[in-house]
Amino acid sequence: MIIQLSEQITATQRETIISCVLKLGYKPNDVTTQKGRYIVGIGKKEFDIRMLGSMPGIVDIHRVSDDYKFVSNKWKVNRTVIDLGDGVLIGDGSLAIMAGPCSIENEKQIEDTINHLKENGVGIMRGGVFKPRSSPYAFRGLGIDGLKLWYSLARKAGIKIVSEVMQVSQIEEMVDYVDIFQVGARNTQNFNLLDELGKVDKPVMIKRGISGTIDELLSSAEYVFSAGNEKLMLCERGIRTYERASRNTFDINAIPILKEKTHLPIIADPSHGVGIREYVEPVALAAAVAGADGIIYETHQKPEEAFSDGQQTLDFAESARMIQKLNKVRQLLTSY
Ligand code: PEP
Ligand code: MN
Repeated sequence: MIIQLSEQITATQRETIISCVLKLGYKPNDVTTQKGRYIVGIGKKEFDIRMLGSMPGIVDIHRVSDDYKFVSNKWKVNRTVIDLGDGVLIGDGSLAIMAGPCSIENEKQIEDTINHLKENGVGIMRGGVFKPRSSPYAFRGLGIDGLKLWYSLARKAGIKIVSEVMQVSQIEEMVDYVDIFQVGARNTQNFNLLDELGKVDKPVMIKRGISGTIDELLSSAEYVFSAGNEKLMLCERGIRTYERASRNTFDINAIPILKEKTHLPIIADPSHGVGIREYVEPVALAAAVAGADGIIYETHQKPEEAFSDGQQTLDFAESARMIQKLNKVRQLLTSY
């Protein structure tokens, strides 16, 4: 169960509620986020909800049978909308587009990408400065100095940025230079990282693990929420299957399933999802039709020269075409 507490609750009222929750056979956990104060009770026993409902200090109480509680759709009437400021919203019914290179490489590349995004009305740029690479000899990113340079150029252009954080120690150095922390597929179940991201007041996008289930993704999101951060979104980025014709298998099913299970915005990453440039556009369009709240993909001035993931990266002409098609799909969907 989730108990929403009033902001003015007194310490005595809280203690009385907790002892009542314990008496019902539930384990109470205190949760304070940017948006509210809660007690989440973990247990299975049936009880009459009215026993708690009228207690002073309680605003509302919800039964949630899922293993994950806060990220479940079962208690929230409205879907979560992430507000990045300056009118950039994710999950408000528009289709958020986040585009940029796999890796941030140099100033010229950042400027070229920003110009491309501005010309096409895209408000969020992606890019990695800490890169998880399968080989230790591959390019591993420009690090924090690259992030600072990128951030200052993006800010001047009015562009928001999303970048991957790989470990706890990077959170503090990155926090003032990102608009969204990305948790990569190799870190979906790095529970220490998730706990710490729960303590910052910055949106977090969690990618689905390479071999992760939908429920595991939701449980990862529960870590961040229950540690205090409600500004969360999830990303389907393809999973590893026996199929070798594509880099990963984009799980289109995950989009409507996640939309049903959670109130969090759902983002689709067709670049990593399919891993082959020619198929990025059809997969992106399919994800938009399936109900994704946003699309994140890789684009580069010269994909064949990209430091990483060039084989799945769109050039700017392909990217511009795809943005136009995505906008048309969104218009079509909202006209129904
Ligand atoms: C990326 O976004 O560049 C990335 C490494 O993604 P993933 O964690 O999904 O592999
Ligand atoms: Mn990549």
